[in-house]
Amino acid sequence: MSSSISTCCNLQRRIAVCGIIAVVLTLAMSACGMGGSSPGGLEYVNTSIENGCPLYWETDSAGVVNIYLVYDQERSSPNRANGHWHFQLQASKAADLTIVLHNFDNVWNGKMGSPINDRTICFVSEDGKRWQVLATEKIEGNRLRVRAQMRRESLYLARLEPYRVSDLERLKQEIRGHRLVEISHIGHTVEGRELEMIRIGQADAPGRVLLRARAHPWESGGNWVVQGLIRRLLRDDEDSRRYLARYCVYVMPMANKDGVVRGWTRFNMLGKDLNRNWDEPADPCLAPENFALESWLQAMAAKGKRPHLMIDLHNDDGGKLHVSRPGIDLDEYLQRMEALEGLLRKWTWFTEGSTGSNYRNPGTIGEGLLERYGMIACVLELNANWIAGLKDYPCGKNWELFGEQLCEVFFHYFESNH
Ligand SMILES: [Zn+2]
Repeated sequence: MSSSISTCCNLQRRIAVCGIIAVVLTLAMSACGMGGSSPGGLEYVNTSIENGCPLYWETDSAGVVNIYLVYDQERSSPNRANGHWHFQLQASKAADLTIVLHNFDNVWNGKMGSPINDRTICFVSEDGKRWQVLATEKIEGNRLRVRAQMRRESLYLARLEPYRVSDLERLKQEIRGHRLVEISHIGHTVEGRELEMIRIGQADAPGRVLLRARAHPWESGGNWVVQGLIRRLLRDDEDSRRYLARYCVYVMPMANKDGVVRGWTRFNMLGKDLNRNWDEPADPCLAPENFALESWLQAMAAKGKRPHLMIDLHNDDGGKLHVSRPGIDLDEYLQRMEALEGLLRKWTWFTEGSTGSNYRNPGTIGEGLLERYGMIACVLELNANWIAGLKDYPCGKNWELFGEQLCEVFFHYFESNH
């Protein structure tokens, strides 16, 4: 008897405790905007999309959506990077959302740096195909505020107009089998994805250009540029025949394919920066993406077909041609870089100019290939916020135009140099 009373009392006590916990949880959840729809109308932040970035999120009591980006980190280094974002907001129709992006305390070359400023832009799209520019606001705490109005129940946000692996596959599908195209597999990424080299034009053309895009996954600009260039060269008109009589172009279109798939910002899956360590032979285990390119370069050199010019395409907020100056005889190199800059200014929308006479960035591909192979190689940064020469934002279309214009640059580059 007494035991059953005590059991009953215990039960009542447990029910009471559970009730209190439930009330506390409900209060806590509503304070965090969890449970039911949030005060601002957000239902979910979906990152299960191609090139979606790692993040976690929470909505505060005022309905502000706080998005915490997750850094990718460099191996054996304090360096870490966030600069890419790409996710889908799912919310009630007509909601006015305020989104605050966090975690831009990057470490770059061992120093703190921020990838955002007052000019940083953001792209939005309802269907993931047509993108528009949205202004952002840098606020205290090195955070970025974006206001988005929902017209449908979902909206994509991205740092730059995305260029995904599926976009590259579509391009390959479009050009495969063309008599002027050769697509070869030159190696694999850390996660086993195939890396390709695309040749446009005849292998025995007098001039050879090598372009690499997407060493850093957030920088989609290079992919749009090479797409514009490839399509222009294959247009089969008088100009394209004139170009391809003088040169052929080799394109490594997506060096850090794993990073693009996973929505990372800078490093490969083993924490290597694919635009560093070019002052020594590439590590086949830690940086197989670079090892693939270097092996290809060596095979080309063995055939007497080393590229005459190599440009590595990047994005930043300066948009300059990076002319790195290692301690070797630079006369010919500087002459050719000057010629290249002049041609870029003349034939494309490029106006940003080159880095100064003291500029060095050791280990970058431009400097490494110049120092170790005597190649005319450089890094071209494309401004990720504004194209001064067009007075317009850098969208995929404007970068494709730059790629088209590069065809004329190379035509004249080989006229004056070879
Ligand atoms: Zn870069």
